[in-house]
Amino acid sequence: MKTVTVNIVTPDGPVYDSEVAMVIAKTVSGEIGVLPGHIPMVAPLSIGAVKLKKEDGSQEVVAVSGGFIEVRPDKISILAPSAEEAASIDIARAKEALARAEQRLQKKQDDIDFKRAELALKRAINRISVHEGN
Ligand code: ATP
Repeated sequence: MKTVTVNIVTPDGPVYDSEVAMVIAKTVSGEIGVLPGHIPMVAPLSIGAVKLKKEDGSQEVVAVSGGFIEVRPDKISILAPSAEEAASIDIARAKEALARAEQRLQKKQDDIDFKRAELALKRAINRISVHEGN
């Protein structure tokens, strides 16, 4: 088995569906690289980039904002609250979200606002970095 089908799905619909040679994803306990034929597993994801290595050596990157990765030998499903391919990221929107989150974090209101702002900051930084190809 040289490739595995990868689906990335959000509540708004499917974002990515392709055959890949390897998936690199950031789980809450660290980065994992998954090859075709992997034993079944489920892991929660951090806000981060999912790297999809194609058989021809090229790579596609999708920004995901958490969720879960479910691995089966012939299929990998990623269910995320939101996900965007690099090309569909609105960079101006991400920069505005980053500035808003930074302002909120400077105010340091109650704990819940702080956590929300921190997550918004991470999502914005992730989108900017995926868009810029880092
Ligand atoms: P914002 O404050 O700009 O809405 P957010 O991090 O709160 O950012 P999310 O709640 O993660 O946004 O996503 C809401 C929807 O908007 C999702 O469908 C997501 O894919 C989309 N989205 C958010 N930011 C961007 C962006 N910079 N470019 C493209 N789509 C985006």
